[in-house]
Amino acid sequence: MPKLNKQTIAVRHGIEADQHHGAVVPPIYLSTTYSFADFDTKRQYDYGRSGNPNRDILAEALAELEGGARGIITATGMAAVHLVTQLLTPADTLVIPHDCYGGSYRLFTSLAKRGLLQVKVVDFTTAECYQQLIDAKPKLVWIETPSNPILRLTDIKSVCAAAAQVGALVAADNTFLSPALQNPLAQGCDVVVHSTTKYINGHSDVVGGAVICKTPELGEELAWWANNIGITGAPFDSYLILRGLRTLKVRLRQHEENAQAIAEYLEQHPGVEKVYYPGLASHPQHELAKAQQSGFGGMVSFDIKGELKDSAKFLTSVQQFTLAESLGGVESLICHPATMTHAGMDKEARLAAGVGDTLIRISVGIEDQEDLIADLERAFAQLHQS
Ligand SMILES: *Cc1c(COP(=O)(O)O)cnc(C)c1O
Repeated sequence: MPKLNKQTIAVRHGIEADQHHGAVVPPIYLSTTYSFADFDTKRQYDYGRSGNPNRDILAEALAELEGGARGIITATGMAAVHLVTQLLTPADTLVIPHDCYGGSYRLFTSLAKRGLLQVKVVDFTTAECYQQLIDAKPKLVWIETPSNPILRLTDIKSVCAAAAQVGALVAADNTFLSPALQNPLAQGCDVVVHSTTKYINGHSDVVGGAVICKTPELGEELAWWANNIGITGAPFDSYLILRGLRTLKVRLRQHEENAQAIAEYLEQHPGVEKVYYPGLASHPQHELAKAQQSGFGGMVSFDIKGELKDSAKFLTSVQQFTLAESLGGVESLICHPATMTHAGMDKEARLAAGVGDTLIRISVGIEDQEDLIADLERAFAQLHQS
């Protein structure tokens, strides 16, 4: 087999799957159980929790896109995050970023409270983080880059080098960029996690997750746990996510083009205090983004000038951006992290993470760029009318 490029893999994987009728789109196998070929002779599949053709096609496609040996499809992104923690026993330390996804932070810290693992929180944007990682002697290091909501980057290769010094595994949550724009396994990580709910499915109509392992051994261990706990994804969801995956790269190209234009528009706008987008030369880690990513993604955050009431006015003035949490769908969404995604944090921690009352996060969709920018312009104009 020739080595194929990403868009070809995403479009073609599984097209030859139906041996019976040659259906070009892999049929959906809803059956929960499969007949035995003979006494004591199982076929490839026996029971739907343990294995399913739709799940396998999606898992193989994602493993190939991430450059891993094996993929595991889970019911949600959080199920994928939880699955990876099965690698840890109560004596093991897990190093996590101070600004990782709120659901992951809550899961890790509540597992630690129950004594199921030890947690050490590190700020991966500081110079001391590598020594802190080494001193913690972790079994596993968790990274998420770029981070939510202010798009800070973690230097993947440096974290992996520090982890290697103490024999720690590294898992990366790659949800914000998807395999189209970043491949953590190629940069030294052992495990990649996705909430496929976001860019991979891309149409805001399925909740799902995936874990991709670099080695067959890790893949085997986590696949065993996924079946054991019972968190594998549904066939119909896998079918829809594969359909979304077909267009991943072309969607991201448009997300990114729109995001870059919006970030540049916001950066020159007098009503804006600060813009956070790795594709801007002014982003403090722009060079790192160019080195470790193959694109800058579709998420843009910014602080508007003013106070909470101005944020509220802005968020309710826009018409082409829907006020909602989540990200990665074809439609543009706008959110106020302080009162929405990050409302669970106490105020001090929230401010320390850069999430103030004037911070606004946009998941830039694939609509026409002019319409999006004109809509933002109208919202700014309304701010200054009282
Ligand atoms: C949404 C998200 C998750 C959780 O995924 P669900 O599909 O909502 O369970 C994990 N990590 C990141 C970065 C996310 O954005």
